[in-house]
Amino acid sequence: MSMADRMPRTDDVAPVEVAPGVHRIDTPLGARFTSLYVVTGPAGVLLYDTGIDGTIPAHVLPALELLGRRSDEVVAVIVSHCDVDHFGGVADAREAFANARIVAGALDVPVIEDYERYVTERARGFVADYGWDEDPAVLAWCRSVTREGRLDGAAADGERIDLGGDRVVEVLAVPGHSRGHVAVDVPWANAVIVGDAVLAASVDLADGTPAFPPTYRHVDDYLETVARLERLDRGLLLTAHYPVMRGEAAGAFLARSREFAERLDRLVADALATMPDGLTFADLLAAVNPIAGGWPADGTEGALAFPVAGHLERLIAEGRALRVGERDGVAVWATA
Ligand SMILES: [Zn+2]
Repeated sequence: MSMADRMPRTDDVAPVEVAPGVHRIDTPLGARFTSLYVVTGPAGVLLYDTGIDGTIPAHVLPALELLGRRSDEVVAVIVSHCDVDHFGGVADAREAFANARIVAGALDVPVIEDYERYVTERARGFVADYGWDEDPAVLAWCRSVTREGRLDGAAADGERIDLGGDRVVEVLAVPGHSRGHVAVDVPWANAVIVGDAVLAASVDLADGTPAFPPTYRHVDDYLETVARLERLDRGLLLTAHYPVMRGEAAGAFLARSREFAERLDRLVADALATMPDGLTFADLLAAVNPIAGGWPADGTEGALAFPVAGHLERLIAEGRALRVGERDGVAVWATA
């Protein structure tokens, strides 16, 4: 498939019906894309994710019009998790969908509603413990694409949303990438919409080349999410940043997600073992980044910080690594 086939264009508002009543909208995100999903039933419409500020008026409202549905028929907006490419359009959703209940997973709601909390706990979440900070240009971009707003509460695991007829979807808690990440199971279509809950061996550009590492954060939760989706075994796996995956391709994607996490666990442990005097978190990122995957090593440490912090914390919890001191005021970590 050529890059032109896969690269969403800004005028590319046509939704693609990937299964009965499940419509995918690819929205541009620099050289990447974010896929939003519209699920339709006779009595209502559900929107999964809001994109960045401006995505809804530019892409979702025209898509609804093409589907012959009105914005006041949107009864639910599910915000998958607390990253700006998914919640940056919450204020747009509030303005566009007067009848929608706008929700996210309980543990992500306070982060989505309060940008300062997003910055402290998510974007700059490695400063306090690890002395490692995100690139200011990335932080400025995050601010520029986000217009946050209040949600209407939380979406709980097992909650059903009735869109009329046989079209009842179910919310699934799929933590790991964030603590409160939620998916939507669509039983009549044998499909599950998972956002960033599983991320294979890299997050990719629109042309499929690796852009940066898979940014899961809570390793045991993430592996349980992979296992849960494998047990669910839907024939159609719908993510935010990858092509539509059906059948064996869906299963292979889940297997790659688990295999990557198992391998990175070993790489982090090995990096610590080869440096008996210990490593700062920045040292650890520099040691692991060039060998962990196919993405460019330059400028991707901010993404790798998420899974490496997760694996380091897991090794500490297992008694296999510990903090051995400080170097220039920054914690140093070593094999226990
Ligand atoms: Zn994302």
